[in-house]
Amino acid sequence: MTQKQQNKLQFSITQEIKYLNSQIRNLQKKLSPIACDCSLDDLNREAMKEEQTLTLNLIEQKQQRITLLNSLNIEDEEYGICQECDEDIPFKRLLLIPESKYCVSCLNEMQKN
Ligand SMILES: [Zn+2]
Repeated sequence: MTQKQQNKLQFSITQEIKYLNSQIRNLQKKLSPIACDCSLDDLNREAMKEEQTLTLNLIEQKQQRITLLNSLNIEDEEYGICQECDEDIPFKRLLLIPESKYCVSCLNEMQKN
């Protein structure tokens, strides 16, 4: 990977983390506590609880992704090299999926088996 590609990739990872963080903030706004609102019947209350659980799961997924992205060391010389065939993983693929560990053909092989 060239220095220029590395910069571009680092930038795109930083952007993705920012984006995830803003998504998390928006989701957290939806997580207002369920008030003891007597106008809500039990069914509505259940539905709200369910939605909150979904929202919490989404937040967790996004936080895990941030942790994963933060843990990537794209300056590592092992980074961007397929762990199966030692070929360079195409840069376009890394831009889309920075945590790629395998090239597309190895991944396809692995999914077949
Ligand atoms: Zn490979």
